[in-house]
Amino acid sequence: MRHPFIAGNWKMHKTVHDAVVYTKEFRRLVADVTEVEIVIAPAFTALHAVAEAARNSNVGVAAQDLYWEARGAFTGEVSAEMIREAGAEYVIIGHSERRALFGETDADVNRKTRAALAAGLTPIVCIGETLAEREANRTFEVLDRQIRDGLPGLTPEQLSALVVAYEPVWAIGTGRTATPAQAEQAHTHIRARLADGFGPDPARECHLVYGGSVKPGNIRELMEAGDVDGALVGGASLDAEAFAEIVAGSLKAPV
Ligand code: PEP
Repeated sequence: MRHPFIAGNWKMHKTVHDAVVYTKEFRRLVADVTEVEIVIAPAFTALHAVAEAARNSNVGVAAQDLYWEARGAFTGEVSAEMIREAGAEYVIIGHSERRALFGETDADVNRKTRAALAAGLTPIVCIGETLAEREANRTFEVLDRQIRDGLPGLTPEQLSALVVAYEPVWAIGTGRTATPAQAEQAHTHIRARLADGFGPDPARECHLVYGGSVKPGNIRELMEAGDVDGALVGGASLDAEAFAEIVAGSLKAPV
Protein backbone atom coordinates (compact mmCIF):
# COMPACT_ATOMS: atom_id res chain seq x y z
CA MET A 1 0.00 0.00 0.00
CA ARG A 2 1.43 3.36 -0.99
CA HIS A 3 1.16 6.28 1.37
CA PRO A 4 0.58 9.77 -0.02
CA PHE A 5 3.79 11.40 -1.21
CA ILE A 6 4.28 15.09 -0.44
CA ALA A 7 7.41 16.95 -1.56
CA GLY A 8 8.36 20.60 -1.12
CA ASN A 9 10.50 22.22 -3.80
CA TRP A 10 12.20 25.25 -2.31
CA LYS A 11 13.70 26.31 -5.65
CA MET A 12 16.33 29.08 -5.23
CA HIS A 13 15.25 30.05 -1.73
CA LYS A 14 16.81 29.76 1.75
CA THR A 15 20.40 30.09 2.86
CA VAL A 16 21.99 27.19 4.74
CA HIS A 17 21.06 28.88 8.01
CA ASP A 18 17.42 29.41 7.05
CA ALA A 19 17.16 25.90 5.65
CA VAL A 20 18.37 24.32 8.88
CA VAL A 21 16.09 26.46 11.04
CA TYR A 22 13.15 25.42 8.85
CA THR A 23 14.07 21.73 8.91
CA LYS A 24 14.33 21.63 12.70
CA GLU A 25 10.92 23.25 13.06
CA PHE A 26 9.29 21.23 10.28
CA ARG A 27 10.44 17.83 11.54
CA ARG A 28 8.88 18.70 14.90
CA LEU A 29 5.60 19.71 13.24
CA VAL A 30 5.31 16.43 11.29
CA ALA A 31 6.87 14.12 13.86
CA ASP A 32 3.61 12.28 14.48
CA VAL A 33 2.76 11.73 10.82
CA THR A 34 3.44 8.11 9.96
CA GLU A 35 1.44 7.55 6.80
CA VAL A 36 2.81 10.18 4.44
CA GLU A 37 6.13 10.02 2.56
CA ILE A 38 7.49 13.53 3.20
CA VAL A 39 10.34 15.14 1.28
CA ILE A 40 11.93 18.60 1.17
CA ALA A 41 14.16 19.79 -1.68
CA PRO A 42 16.62 22.52 -0.70
CA ALA A 43 19.18 24.16 -2.97
CA PHE A 44 22.43 22.22 -3.44
CA THR A 45 24.28 24.47 -1.00
CA ALA A 46 21.96 23.44 1.85
CA LEU A 47 21.54 19.78 0.90
CA HIS A 48 24.01 18.28 3.36
CA ALA A 49 23.04 20.55 6.24
CA VAL A 50 19.34 19.81 5.72
CA ALA A 51 20.00 16.08 5.50
CA GLU A 52 21.84 16.28 8.81
CA ALA A 53 19.04 18.33 10.38
CA ALA A 54 16.48 15.79 9.14
CA ARG A 55 18.48 12.73 10.21
CA ASN A 56 16.45 10.10 12.12
CA SER A 57 13.18 11.78 11.23
CA ASN A 58 10.33 10.99 8.84
CA VAL A 59 11.47 13.79 6.51
CA GLY A 60 13.40 12.77 3.40
CA VAL A 61 15.59 15.06 1.35
CA ALA A 62 15.72 15.67 -2.41
CA ALA A 63 18.05 17.55 -4.71
CA GLN A 64 16.37 19.77 -7.29
CA ASP A 65 18.43 18.53 -10.25
CA LEU A 66 21.48 16.45 -11.12
CA TYR A 67 23.85 15.82 -14.01
CA TRP A 68 23.95 12.39 -15.61
CA GLU A 69 27.72 11.93 -15.80
CA ALA A 70 29.46 10.45 -12.77
CA ARG A 71 32.39 12.90 -12.76
CA GLY A 72 34.50 15.02 -15.03
CA ALA A 73 34.94 18.46 -16.55
CA PHE A 74 31.36 19.67 -16.19
CA THR A 75 31.70 22.99 -14.41
CA GLY A 76 28.78 23.79 -12.17
CA GLU A 77 27.18 20.36 -12.36
CA VAL A 78 26.50 17.88 -9.54
CA SER A 79 26.42 14.09 -9.91
CA ALA A 80 24.01 11.54 -8.48
CA GLU A 81 26.73 10.09 -6.28
CA MET A 82 27.53 13.53 -4.84
CA ILE A 83 23.85 14.01 -4.05
CA ARG A 84 23.62 10.61 -2.35
CA GLU A 85 26.72 11.27 -0.33
CA ALA A 86 25.32 14.64 0.79
CA GLY A 87 22.44 12.70 2.34
CA ALA A 88 19.61 12.98 -0.19
CA GLU A 89 17.54 10.01 -1.32
CA TYR A 90 15.44 11.73 -3.98
CA VAL A 91 16.02 14.08 -6.89
CA ILE A 92 13.61 16.27 -8.87
CA ILE A 93 14.13 15.89 -12.62
CA GLY A 94 12.69 17.82 -15.55
CA HIS A 95 10.96 20.55 -13.58
CA SER A 96 9.22 22.92 -16.01
CA GLU A 97 11.52 25.75 -14.92
CA ARG A 98 14.52 23.68 -15.96
CA ARG A 99 12.83 22.86 -19.24
CA ALA A 100 11.74 26.44 -19.99
CA LEU A 101 14.65 28.46 -18.57
CA PHE A 102 17.58 26.09 -19.04
CA GLY A 103 16.62 24.24 -22.21
CA GLU A 104 16.27 20.82 -20.65
CA THR A 105 14.89 18.25 -23.11
CA ASP A 106 13.09 14.94 -22.71
CA ALA A 107 16.35 13.22 -23.69
CA ASP A 108 18.11 15.03 -20.83
CA VAL A 109 15.32 13.96 -18.49
CA ASN A 110 15.89 10.38 -19.56
CA ARG A 111 19.66 10.53 -18.99
CA LYS A 112 19.16 12.13 -15.59
CA THR A 113 16.47 9.66 -14.55
CA ARG A 114 18.64 6.69 -15.47
CA ALA A 115 21.67 8.17 -13.68
CA ALA A 116 19.60 8.81 -10.57
CA LEU A 117 18.21 5.27 -10.53
CA ALA A 118 21.66 3.78 -11.10
CA ALA A 119 22.91 5.66 -8.03
CA GLY A 120 19.99 4.56 -5.88
CA LEU A 121 18.16 7.89 -5.85
CA THR A 122 14.37 8.05 -6.31
CA PRO A 123 13.61 10.35 -9.24
CA ILE A 124 10.67 12.74 -9.05
CA VAL A 125 10.09 13.24 -12.77
CA CYS A 126 8.02 16.31 -13.71
CA ILE A 127 5.83 16.45 -16.79
CA GLY A 128 3.06 18.82 -17.84
CA GLU A 129 1.71 21.04 -20.58
CA THR A 130 1.90 24.80 -21.02
CA LEU A 131 -1.21 26.96 -21.23
CA ALA A 132 -0.81 27.32 -25.00
CA GLU A 133 -0.60 23.54 -25.34
CA ARG A 134 -3.71 23.03 -23.21
CA GLU A 135 -5.64 25.65 -25.13
CA ALA A 136 -4.63 23.99 -28.39
CA ASN A 137 -5.99 20.67 -27.05
CA ARG A 138 -2.49 19.23 -27.07
CA THR A 139 -2.28 18.25 -23.37
CA PHE A 140 -2.35 14.49 -23.91
CA GLU A 141 -0.02 14.68 -26.90
CA VAL A 142 2.55 16.58 -24.79
CA LEU A 143 2.23 14.20 -21.84
CA ASP A 144 2.60 11.22 -24.19
CA ARG A 145 5.78 12.67 -25.69
CA GLN A 146 7.26 13.47 -22.29
CA ILE A 147 6.60 9.90 -21.12
CA ARG A 148 7.75 8.27 -24.36
CA ASP A 149 10.99 10.27 -24.63
CA GLY A 150 11.68 10.86 -20.95
CA LEU A 151 11.31 7.37 -19.57
CA PRO A 152 12.63 4.85 -22.13
CA GLY A 153 15.06 2.23 -20.88
CA LEU A 154 13.58 1.99 -17.40
CA THR A 155 12.69 -1.47 -16.15
CA PRO A 156 9.18 -2.10 -14.79
CA GLU A 157 10.75 -2.37 -11.30
CA GLN A 158 12.36 1.03 -11.70
CA LEU A 159 9.07 2.51 -12.89
CA SER A 160 7.25 1.22 -9.83
CA ALA A 161 9.71 3.07 -7.58
CA LEU A 162 9.42 6.32 -9.51
CA VAL A 163 7.50 9.45 -8.55
CA VAL A 164 5.88 11.12 -11.56
CA ALA A 165 4.71 14.69 -10.93
CA TYR A 166 2.00 16.05 -13.21
CA GLU A 167 2.61 19.78 -13.12
CA PRO A 168 0.59 21.80 -15.61
CA VAL A 169 2.93 24.70 -16.30
CA TRP A 170 0.07 27.21 -16.20
CA ALA A 171 -0.60 26.26 -12.58
CA ILE A 172 2.97 26.59 -11.28
CA GLY A 173 3.54 29.66 -9.15
CA THR A 174 0.46 31.32 -10.64
CA GLY A 175 -2.06 30.72 -7.89
CA ARG A 176 -4.18 29.00 -10.54
CA THR A 177 -4.70 25.39 -9.49
CA ALA A 178 -5.97 22.66 -11.78
CA THR A 179 -9.45 21.61 -10.71
CA PRO A 180 -9.65 18.17 -9.15
CA ALA A 181 -11.42 17.04 -12.34
CA GLN A 182 -8.58 18.36 -14.52
CA ALA A 183 -5.99 16.69 -12.30
CA GLU A 184 -7.89 13.41 -12.35
CA GLN A 185 -8.30 13.48 -16.12
CA ALA A 186 -4.57 14.03 -16.67
CA HIS A 187 -3.56 11.47 -14.06
CA THR A 188 -5.84 8.82 -15.50
CA HIS A 189 -4.30 9.44 -18.89
CA ILE A 190 -0.72 9.33 -17.56
CA ARG A 191 -1.38 6.14 -15.59
CA ALA A 192 -2.78 4.48 -18.72
CA ARG A 193 0.28 5.47 -20.77
CA LEU A 194 2.59 4.16 -18.05
CA ALA A 195 0.63 0.91 -18.05
CA ASP A 196 1.04 0.67 -21.84
CA GLY A 197 4.79 1.11 -21.52
CA PHE A 198 5.61 -0.77 -18.35
CA GLY A 199 2.64 -2.95 -17.46
CA PRO A 200 -0.36 -2.37 -15.19
CA ASP A 201 1.32 -3.32 -11.90
CA PRO A 202 4.31 -0.93 -12.12
CA ALA A 203 1.99 1.80 -13.38
CA ARG A 204 -0.27 1.30 -10.37
CA GLU A 205 2.63 1.14 -7.93
CA CYS A 206 4.47 4.30 -8.98
CA HIS A 207 3.47 7.50 -7.22
CA LEU A 208 1.64 9.94 -9.46
CA VAL A 209 1.46 13.33 -7.75
CA TYR A 210 0.02 16.71 -8.72
CA GLY A 211 1.90 20.02 -8.65
CA GLY A 212 0.72 23.56 -9.27
CA SER A 213 -0.28 26.09 -6.60
CA VAL A 214 -1.07 23.46 -3.96
CA LYS A 215 -1.88 25.09 -0.61
CA PRO A 216 -3.30 24.07 2.76
CA GLY A 217 -6.72 25.16 1.47
CA ASN A 218 -6.84 22.94 -1.62
CA ILE A 219 -4.81 19.83 -0.79
CA ARG A 220 -7.80 17.89 0.49
CA GLU A 221 -9.93 18.32 -2.62
CA LEU A 222 -6.99 17.48 -4.86
CA MET A 223 -6.27 14.32 -2.86
CA GLU A 224 -9.92 13.35 -3.22
CA ALA A 225 -9.55 13.37 -7.00
CA GLY A 226 -9.07 9.92 -8.44
CA ASP A 227 -5.51 8.78 -9.11
CA VAL A 228 -3.80 11.61 -7.18
CA ASP A 229 -1.18 10.10 -4.86
CA GLY A 230 0.18 13.31 -3.42
CA ALA A 231 1.66 16.66 -4.34
CA LEU A 232 4.79 18.50 -5.36
CA VAL A 233 4.58 21.89 -3.69
CA GLY A 234 6.58 25.00 -4.52
CA GLY A 235 5.69 28.32 -2.89
CA ALA A 236 3.60 26.96 -0.04
CA SER A 237 6.43 24.65 1.05
CA LEU A 238 8.63 27.62 2.00
CA ASP A 239 6.70 28.10 5.22
CA ALA A 240 7.14 25.17 7.62
CA GLU A 241 3.68 25.53 9.18
CA ALA A 242 1.88 25.79 5.84
CA PHE A 243 3.77 22.81 4.49
CA ALA A 244 3.01 20.77 7.61
CA GLU A 245 -0.68 21.61 7.07
CA ILE A 246 -0.43 20.32 3.51
CA VAL A 247 1.15 17.11 4.80
CA ALA A 248 -1.70 16.68 7.30
CA GLY A 249 -4.28 17.52 4.63
CA SER A 250 -2.94 14.83 2.30
CA LEU A 251 -3.94 12.03 4.61
CA LYS A 252 -6.61 9.83 3.21
CA ALA A 253 -6.93 6.09 3.02
CA PRO A 254 -3.60 4.74 1.72
CA VAL A 255 -3.65 4.56 -2.08
C1 PEP B 1 6.59 23.63 -8.38
O1 PEP B 1 7.49 24.45 -8.48
O2 PEP B 1 6.82 22.44 -8.64
C2 PEP B 1 5.29 24.11 -7.98
C3 PEP B 1 4.28 23.28 -8.05
O3 PEP B 1 5.22 25.41 -7.54
P1 PEP B 1 3.93 26.13 -6.86
O4 PEP B 1 3.41 25.19 -5.81
O5 PEP B 1 4.48 27.38 -6.28
O6 PEP B 1 2.94 26.35 -7.94
